[in-house]
Amino acid sequence: MNKLTYTMFTSFMGNTFLSIVKIVSGFLGRSISLIVDGVHTFSDQTLELVSISNIRLKKTDKFKHFLNFFLGIIILGLGLSFIHISISRGVIIPRIRLLAVSLFTIVFKYALSKYLMEKGRLYDNSILVNDAKQSNNDVISSVIVFIGLILTSLSDKFEYFKYADMVTSIIVSMFVIYTGFIIISRELTDLYGVKIENSEYIDGIRTFILSNRSVLDIKDINVNKYGPYYEIRADIVLDNNLTLKIANEIVKYLEYMIRKQYKDVIIMINIV
Ligand SMILES: [Zn+2]
Repeated sequence: MNKLTYTMFTSFMGNTFLSIVKIVSGFLGRSISLIVDGVHTFSDQTLELVSISNIRLKKTDKFKHFLNFFLGIIILGLGLSFIHISISRGVIIPRIRLLAVSLFTIVFKYALSKYLMEKGRLYDNSILVNDAKQSNNDVISSVIVFIGLILTSLSDKFEYFKYADMVTSIIVSMFVIYTGFIIISRELTDLYGVKIENSEYIDGIRTFILSNRSVLDIKDINVNKYGPYYEIRADIVLDNNLTLKIANEIVKYLEYMIRKQYKDVIIMINIV
């Protein structure tokens, strides 16, 4: 297992543990918001798996896209169902000892996000850094659950606080729905791609390619965005006096330099 896979695996196991702790203790302690937060952690893991599969597998793999799209729909449905369940189950006061569990999940998730950020920077990996930022956002969701539990524990003093667990579970359900939307929209852009018209981005690449003395002209340049990736296709005209071997080496060099300068790029240069 390489370092990157190891980091992702650790994060995955940590989140699975967190998800189980939240769902089981939510059931035992009668808190719907903690259960939904567990589902939220699970849905974020699905998003992470989808992001990984989009890098490892070919874009043209229709089955993979179908599966990811389907997972997105399920998560969206789960979020909607939990809003319905939260409202229809009525007021149930969670057990007070859940406060300790809830606090633990906040600390655990925060530590996990710090770990991912550190490794992401160390390996200069944009997926890990993105995951770390995402995890950091999810600490907020656990804090919301914690606040809800504190408020419901005060419901014998302030009557309306008995709705706190219900309200926070609806808020966390929104996070789940949002994650479902992200998965679905990612799959759609990944499948069809979005043409990039940003002239600054394209001109930057054009200028870079033309700065090589052997490149006489660029006949065509196209940029499409697939999920988080930019796919650049450029047709260039090279000096006729160059041998095929040297021409190929120039193309390889240009592709290498562009990949180095622009993050998350798939570059294809053709000689015309
Ligand atoms: Zn999330």
